[in-house]
Amino acid sequence: MTLARQEPAIAELVSFRWHRLQEAEWKTLHHGASQHGKVAVPAGDSVALVGVEGESYAPLKDEPALFRIFAAIEDTPEAFADFARAYGSLDPLPDRISKTARGLPEGYAGDEDDWGEARESVALAIEMWDELRGGNPSELIERMWETRRVGDELGIYPNGPPQCWKGELMDSCLLIVDASSSDREIVQAMLASEVNQGLKHADVTPALAATNKSYGAGLRLTYRVGSLLGAMWLQLALAIDGNRDYRTCEGCGLPWDATGARASRDWCSERCRQRIYRRGQKDAGNSEGAGATS
Ligand SMILES: [Zn+2]
Repeated sequence: MTLARQEPAIAELVSFRWHRLQEAEWKTLHHGASQHGKVAVPAGDSVALVGVEGESYAPLKDEPALFRIFAAIEDTPEAFADFARAYGSLDPLPDRISKTARGLPEGYAGDEDDWGEARESVALAIEMWDELRGGNPSELIERMWETRRVGDELGIYPNGPPQCWKGELMDSCLLIVDASSSDREIVQAMLASEVNQGLKHADVTPALAATNKSYGAGLRLTYRVGSLLGAMWLQLALAIDGNRDYRTCEGCGLPWDATGARASRDWCSERCRQRIYRRGQKDAGNSEGAGATS
């Protein structure tokens, strides 16, 4: 256990529980023609992740490096399903009312594009953050974007063949910054924009929450979170704000929050420390040609 602190961290004040997605599987859905507002949706097949709510947990308290775990998974349906089984769907499963309203099946947890786009967006934000902290923002800009002067300002555009000039040009502009911005300032602006959009799209909103303080109103400003994706964006935003450090565990191979940990520590938990120790014993035993005692 860590030492008693005077003030709880913001992440600990967020009251948010989520369900792991039991029996998460990719299924082909056959749907008939339907009406979404004024848009008629033709009948056809689509592949979607489907599951049922399982055990609940508190992502922001129990999994402090979840946004990094998510960003590091492979872009494959199998990896998305594994993640969903371990940590849950990205968005709430449709309830009975919205299910009928949106024509979604029970247990619908998104399609491959939903998962791929969300992962890519979180991974890009992490990449920008890592480059700002110890990498090379100029190299990142060269690799990812094109900068073009727009009057006194600088437009940031996706890298690639130029789109047709007027109209399209402004449409594809990702961000406009001051023309005097340094490369570091450009990446800062892009990272802030990516995280702000993530928080906004996932409906992460400021909210007062009660604490056990007996003085004052006993309320603190924190956040309201309604989805796992929102929780991961908030986790990332708080990690950036708090300049937190992450390492990859030698025991389980997953990223963990190593803020304030000894430089030599390379395990995430006591369980993984023992796992590494036993593995070392076994290796030593094998190399000596004698059975290791356990
Ligand atoms: Zn571990």
